[in-house]
Amino acid sequence: MARIKYQYNPDTLRYEPWRLKGKSLRIRTLVLFSVSLSLALVAYSFYTQYVGSIDEIILKQKNHTLKVEWQFLQDRTEKAYAELHQLIEKDDNNYRVILDAEPLQPSERQAGVGGSIKLDTEAFQNFPMVLQNYTSVEKLKHQVDIEVQSYDKLKDMIEDKLEAWASRPAIQPISNKELSKLHMTYGTRFHPIFHKYMAHNGLDFAAPKGTPVYATGDGKVAMAYFSGSYGNVVYINHHYNFETRYAHLSAFAVKEGDQVKRGQVIGYVGNTGNSVASHLHYEVLFKGQHVHPINFFQRDLSNKEYQKLIEVGSQQEHPLD
Ligand SMILES: [Zn+2]
Repeated sequence: MARIKYQYNPDTLRYEPWRLKGKSLRIRTLVLFSVSLSLALVAYSFYTQYVGSIDEIILKQKNHTLKVEWQFLQDRTEKAYAELHQLIEKDDNNYRVILDAEPLQPSERQAGVGGSIKLDTEAFQNFPMVLQNYTSVEKLKHQVDIEVQSYDKLKDMIEDKLEAWASRPAIQPISNKELSKLHMTYGTRFHPIFHKYMAHNGLDFAAPKGTPVYATGDGKVAMAYFSGSYGNVVYINHHYNFETRYAHLSAFAVKEGDQVKRGQVIGYVGNTGNSVASHLHYEVLFKGQHVHPINFFQRDLSNKEYQKLIEVGSQQEHPLD
């Protein structure tokens, strides 16, 4: 129940109900309206500034998520650059050094970087960060492509080197265990059968008949036949202009045209042809010229074993062929 105010009326000498009217009523109404309006404005302002609409809240959350994801992308791009540079370092300073290849020039690595990036820059003009990062990722992609090509070339180089290493005569044709004596007469010597000085272009490995004889490098059997002077002899053509010959064999383990691997048995020690005792006569040729076979035994000998071999070989006895 609304309260009623009373006011004393000196004319009627009575208390009468008091009501606001006229100018006072208008002023009071205006003040009330102004205060209400001000309060509403303050509330609205506070709401929009500190609370925001539901849409704004969702947008702010999305914005935050995008910022986090963007930072993640930037970090990942930087990490990819760092990883790529580690690969480039290994490429230039390790692999190419080992393979005797020139490092790639910076100009080769940068070749076509600008040209390969075609961007509608107008579309990105309001998004400089996007443009910058997109360009950075495109450059990265281009550099990765170049590095992939470089590694493909390295792979080809390694395959060539492996083939060259596998082809090169690099072991003894007879195991040290089977070897009874090495006759290291290389050059002119007095021939035991013809009794005159003649060239001797190989090494003689004295060993019992039937001792296995090994191919000293990968290659193809060019000939396996009986020769009056060499007896049963095997010729092997290796890649990169090397050739080896194995003479005075008692028997063959390969035939003409066979592909052989280093260490494969190709025949057995014997005393066929112009020979005075059971032994293997071994020759190495490079570009058709005889070279000293002792220089091609490093692979399966330690320094100590190699020195021993030289010492044994230096104690010359009667030639065997
Ligand atoms: Zn000989």
